Amino acid sequence: MASVEIPMPDDWHVHLRDDDMLAAVVEHTARWFRYGMVMPNLRPPVQTTAQADAYRRRILNRVPAALSHFQPQMTLFVSHDLDLDDLGRGIEAGIVRAVKFYPPGATTNSDQAKGDLGEFDELFGRLVEWNTQLLVHAESTRSDVDLFDREAAFLDDHLAAVCARHPKLGVTLEHVSTAAGVEFVRSNPNVVASITPHHLSRERADLLAFGMKPDLYCKPVLNTAADRDALVEAAVSGDGQFFLGTDSAPHPTTAKYGPNVAAGVFNAPYGLEVVAEVFHQQEALEELGKFVSLNGAAVYGVPPSVDQLRLTRREAQDTIPERLRTSSGEEVVFFGVEEARLWHIEAVA
Ligand SMILES: [Zn+2]
Repeated sequence: MASVEIPMPDDWHVHLRDDDMLAAVVEHTARWFRYGMVMPNLRPPVQTTAQADAYRRRILNRVPAALSHFQPQMTLFVSHDLDLDDLGRGIEAGIVRAVKFYPPGATTNSDQAKGDLGEFDELFGRLVEWNTQLLVHAESTRSDVDLFDREAAFLDDHLAAVCARHPKLGVTLEHVSTAAGVEFVRSNPNVVASITPHHLSRERADLLAFGMKPDLYCKPVLNTAADRDALVEAAVSGDGQFFLGTDSAPHPTTAKYGPNVAAGVFNAPYGLEVVAEVFHQQEALEELGKFVSLNGAAVYGVPPSVDQLRLTRREAQDTIPERLRTSSGEEVVFFGVEEARLWHIEAVA
């Protein structure tokens, strides 16, 4: 049986939501992850150090005692309302790990964003001083850009100019979804990228060709098979510019199975198994630890976990959980059940 041992992974991009959804989902991230980079796109968004600290406490209050290794890493939502002195204090105090830019209207709750990426030069200069990473949701919202070309258009229209003006700014291209994005990262030494389990393992035919699958609808949208192949190649290469960010984003079935499908894939429960299966299929399991545990930690300036996990491929299991129910009765469907049937994960004592 194929098997690999890795330091406990980090999830460098996760949506934990709030209230009863937070209570229902956080244990799934905390089970196998040490850190989670928690996205700030709540309503209202997390924009101050005090809000980040309060949200961090709400998260920790919901983590089961047995999973107390889990430490949320907090981010602030970029807009003109951001107070740079407050941000500086938050970073200094270790409460704020990074800031996240959303193009207005690109994805869940990003209608609250204000301003183009090019309007934040003062912030970017300060981030360089603070050695703090800018996290970017890279999707053009231009109406004349085709849905499947939005990442490339955003890189051309916005991020390339920012990288040229701020050559020392560390940028994470979040959930890179195209070959063009991979190429952009490779040609910009200060740009790195997170990659999701769903973009590594699915492409747009899975979403659209065999009956439309709301559970696979996300932003950025799953792109072509060639784009997926470029992401897989980058992930299994061991290249330190690429690492795991699940973009796990729970939406209840009431928001997923309707006329306006909410964008997001809930992969926290089985995302690690999905990535393991991708690496196994590429005969690259020995590179898994770099992608899920080492590369991202190096980017964010932390040592890898000293705890170890063992992942072992097994005979497919028939019955594993496929959805959760929140305290208010909503259900959320798990992504990656097929892969999770094939993998056993355990802590190494
Ligand atoms: Zn996200």
